[in-house]
Amino acid sequence: MESCPLMKENELNEILARDGMIPMSGLLALMMPSGEGLGFGVKGLDGRYQLGNRVMTRLLHPGAESLTGKLESDLLPTPLLRALAHSDETIINGAAAASLEVALADNGQTSQYRWLKLPILGADSKQLCAIASMIHHLSVAPRSATIQQALDRLQQAHFDLQQTVLELEQMASTDRLTGAWNRRRLEECVRNEMDRLDRYEQPLSLLLIDVDFFKRINDQHGHPAGDQVLQALTSLVQLRLRGTDSLARWGGEEFVVLCPNSRRSAAATLAERLRRQIAAAAFPVVGRLTVSIGVAECKRGENWQEWFERADQALYRAKESGRNQVQLAPDPTMPESTAEYVVANFVQLVWRPAFESGDERIDHGHRQLFADANELLGAILSEQSVDRVGVMVDRLIGDVLEHFRDEEAIVAAAGFPGIAEHKVLHAELASKAQKLLEDYRGGRQGVGEVFQFLTYDVVTKHMLGADRQFFAYLRPAAAQDNAPGNKRQKGQHPVRPGETS
Ligand code: GH3
Ligand code: MG
Ligand code: MG
Repeated sequence: MESCPLMKENELNEILARDGMIPMSGLLALMMPSGEGLGFGVKGLDGRYQLGNRVMTRLLHPGAESLTGKLESDLLPTPLLRALAHSDETIINGAAAASLEVALADNGQTSQYRWLKLPILGADSKQLCAIASMIHHLSVAPRSATIQQALDRLQQAHFDLQQTVLELEQMASTDRLTGAWNRRRLEECVRNEMDRLDRYEQPLSLLLIDVDFFKRINDQHGHPAGDQVLQALTSLVQLRLRGTDSLARWGGEEFVVLCPNSRRSAAATLAERLRRQIAAAAFPVVGRLTVSIGVAECKRGENWQEWFERADQALYRAKESGRNQVQLAPDPTMPESTAEYVVANFVQLVWRPAFESGDERIDHGHRQLFADANELLGAILSEQSVDRVGVMVDRLIGDVLEHFRDEEAIVAAAGFPGIAEHKVLHAELASKAQKLLEDYRGGRQGVGEVFQFLTYDVVTKHMLGADRQFFAYLRPAAAQDNAPGNKRQKGQHPVRPGETS
């Protein structure tokens, strides 16, 4: 019941903001001088009058109530129209004023008038928004102070109106309780960002955050306390987002964070960090609370509903698995077992038998990289010092390079025909890692990007993707003896030599 008037008000704001401009109505008309026989009118850039005072209306549209919506071509003879169009052009081209003498009839009597035109500029004082006109009888020239005052008042009123439009837009796009974006604004932004994804292939991810057991908060402490909690939660999250990320209240106690230019792993890092910070924060009235978060990266060609639905399913899994956790929607471009491993537990990269290559030394290297990545992730999430994180980044990159060298030697000895291409992949990853590290040391790159690259591109995608191509070459010995100790299990679909590269 309570929410009804609020909805209406929001709807009204939306309509006003959508129309972009409040029709300049009563307020402005009141400010226009109509003493001294001065005609005053405002014409939009579409050529239609937005308003005219009594004198102006009488001169241009005798007998009518109002000038609003009229074109001069509906009202005036052709020769006069040409002169007026010429003076409009002068204003459009940037002149501060234009003036002409015209013959007009008033009460059946034709006489000479001066028609003065002035630009009305937008809130930035640069863009032309409308053209103001003042008309006076040549015999009764108004005092220039009167014209100046009228114009000043007009400009001020116009400026105020534009501010109001901006404020209405702001109101129409933010949630009243929390000040976060509302659904409408989010969806607008999503459309733009999804376009960008299609055109420039910039990654795009979202977090769907839901407060755990929020109903209990309302039940135990009352609805106003619940509201306070939602406000505090919004501020906490907003303070911790990058400038490019946006927070929107999706409804009730559900929020969406839109992360442009972020792959799933970066979004998951952010989600996990937020989850921890929320769980550690003290909230008004209730003290502690936790959230569950679903993360999904937008796939090319996917629509907003499908993408959101995947985040929602991940959130559902987070709730089902005990709340106070982050779950990721599977990455459909990854092999199933890999997706499963990431989904199973993001906070730790979990080693699985399915990742084993069949060669002890290579597996040892891969496990070491998992351990390095986990250590680095822990350091980032617990916000350890830049120096400490730097040491771990160094170690991980050092281990990656060493592992690449070992692996190349082992795989070449095993007769893998794709070794040359694989070396090229290694070289590319290594040079990108070095570059990232330099940028990180020079403060040009955040640790998030370094981590994302190392865990996603190197450890996850390369190690669990490209590396699988040579697994089959490493296995013959184990496969031949068919011993019960053979670690491979059914259903793991190793790629066979014929399928490589
Ligand atoms: P779960 O862990 O499963 O998410 O449990 P929950 O209690 O949070 O689940 P549910 O989504 O059913 O409850 C959400 C509650 O949020 C129900 C509703 O009364 C309350 N709520 C929705 N909007 C507002 C609001 O603006 N202010 C307050 N105080 N409560 C709200
Ligand atoms: Mg909910
Ligand atoms: Mg909830």
